[in-house]
Amino acid sequence: MTALPEYEIFAIRYASQALRAEGHTFLGGDHNKLIPGLDFFTYALRGGGRTWVIDTGFTPEKAAIMGRDYAFQTRPSAALAKIGIDAASATDVILTHAHFDHVGTLADYPNAKFHIQDEEMIHVTGRDMAHKPFRAAYYPGDIKELIDLVYADRMVFHAGDVTLAPGLEFILIGGHARGQAILRVHTARGWVILASDAVHVFEEVDEERPFAIFYDLFVMLEGYRRINRMAGSRDLIVPGHDARITKAYPAAGPGLEGLVLRLDLPPVW
Ligand SMILES: [Zn+2]
Repeated sequence: MTALPEYEIFAIRYASQALRAEGHTFLGGDHNKLIPGLDFFTYALRGGGRTWVIDTGFTPEKAAIMGRDYAFQTRPSAALAKIGIDAASATDVILTHAHFDHVGTLADYPNAKFHIQDEEMIHVTGRDMAHKPFRAAYYPGDIKELIDLVYADRMVFHAGDVTLAPGLEFILIGGHARGQAILRVHTARGWVILASDAVHVFEEVDEERPFAIFYDLFVMLEGYRRINRMAGSRDLIVPGHDARITKAYPAAGPGLEGLVLRLDLPPVW
């Protein structure tokens, strides 16, 4: 049997938020109490002779439209250039879901095919979006771009749990968004789970404390348990917005501290 590739995993921390109302992070949280805010990441993988980009982040212009006040420190494609990944020639971009902070710079990848779960496209283009609460974290301009990608033969659809390449699994969790997916990536330190928004911060998997935004609360809670079981170790779970990740993982090189991290190396808490 051929050994699975051991991927390098890069996290791009493109924006951050210093403080945030507890009620904006946790269901039932206090809207007058401030707690540490969220960090915003995209990712890239190198392994098995291929490069994969995961999510595309968003921009200060989009943040203004969406009424979000975050501190931006880079455009994800500009940070990728610093680790030798050229967005313009990238071949594969995986979208974990289509919330505005995950699909905001699609045009930076003009030659890529985009991978998404069937459930997410059904969610963002159909009847679910006739309900205002489900629209809160989507930007209609992004969704139109996703539809254009379908018609340009640049969207690759996946149904449920699939292997994209040896050592790289795209797993449907749902809950937070109807088509919320995670990545399970084989590395030298084991199978790392990039949880994206299936787990924003560690409290969700540590305490089963629900995040404030969801499509299906039961499915989101079941997702926390499934991710804990799959990972087997907390150090193999990478929540998608936890600022503690930025402190725990090493920089990908000199001058990249707090900007590009290596998640295939062990964290130091
Ligand atoms: Zn989300």
